[in-house]
Amino acid sequence: MAKIWANSGDSHFLEPDDLWRSNLPRRLAELVPRAEKDPDGRWETVHVDGQSFRRRLPSQIQSEFREAGNRPPGARDAGLRLKDLDAEGIWNEVVFPSLGLWAATFRTPEVLHAAMQVSNDWAVDNIMEKSPRLVPTAQVSTLSIEDAVSELQRAAGMGFRCVFMPTKPHPRQDDYHQASWEPFWAAAEEANMVLAFHIGTDPIDQTNERVGITYRGPGGAVLNYTETTFSGQRAAMKLVASGALDRHPDLKVLISEGGASWVPFLGDRMLEGYRQHAMAVRPKLSRSPKEILYTQVWASFQHDASAVSALTAEGYQNVMFGSDYPHLEGTFGHTQDTLRDLFDGVPDQVRDRITVGAFQELFPDTAPPPASTTT
Ligand code: MN
Repeated sequence: MAKIWANSGDSHFLEPDDLWRSNLPRRLAELVPRAEKDPDGRWETVHVDGQSFRRRLPSQIQSEFREAGNRPPGARDAGLRLKDLDAEGIWNEVVFPSLGLWAATFRTPEVLHAAMQVSNDWAVDNIMEKSPRLVPTAQVSTLSIEDAVSELQRAAGMGFRCVFMPTKPHPRQDDYHQASWEPFWAAAEEANMVLAFHIGTDPIDQTNERVGITYRGPGGAVLNYTETTFSGQRAAMKLVASGALDRHPDLKVLISEGGASWVPFLGDRMLEGYRQHAMAVRPKLSRSPKEILYTQVWASFQHDASAVSALTAEGYQNVMFGSDYPHLEGTFGHTQDTLRDLFDGVPDQVRDRITVGAFQELFPDTAPPPASTTT
């Protein structure tokens, strides 16, 4: 049977639910997120760092959805995970955290600092050291840039090769296009750390009754799903337009799960703005925004047929497959079918760039997968 081996730019690991609570000193452990359900089971109060907010609990449909997405036992266990990866034909994969979703609700820099350290130490023991095929992302505070720099450097020393960046920083911090982030970009370039943004990770809006839900009513499911992709494009746009990537030409960015054909589109839009509004453009860039986007930003996708033509028709080389294991949006259970469909009639060279080469370029010290077999 033919098998297409692919690297993946997108997967997730579920940490133990009590990871922070059981590893922080008691004084700080009291401040990490804790949810209390109402007796009627419809609402909950979440206590985080001295704040409490009310949240409507997921409906039956939403609960089933979430459960289905996290069902594979490899979501929590690296050994079982590797068996799934072998069966699916995934070799190396970038592994994002799950608890980190809460990071933007902390107010005390010291608690966030300690929580990120615990998560990074845990990821080394439970993901990185389990297999060289698993490439976990480090986590840093986006509340304190100084802290982010020091934890990034510590993580690089521990062997991390990429750092998870939420698509927008902590609500109390400047946005990514501001000059205050410059020390962090410089440190990431110096440490050779890939900035790994995952779509849909703008800070949780605590005033929203239902996390992650922007639209209700007709079309809601598709609207909410599609909406999440724009956050990744905005992050890339800020790093290009502000000159951060231009000043740091060795800094590399991965935008995971958001498709790839947006890159040629966004490059064209930014180029037009840069050229036609030249009198207002600050800072000037040494290369065109489209070139910066094309050469320093990698983009992972799961099923999108248009991602392949972003390379073949638009010349965007950094198109990368991502299985999004173990989530529902991903290809778990049908990865080989997806890969066969995507690359049916596509030259091997293009297939290999998208399934293997783009990832190897981003993480050159990982070993490439076995050769794909086609019969
Ligand atoms: Mn994902």
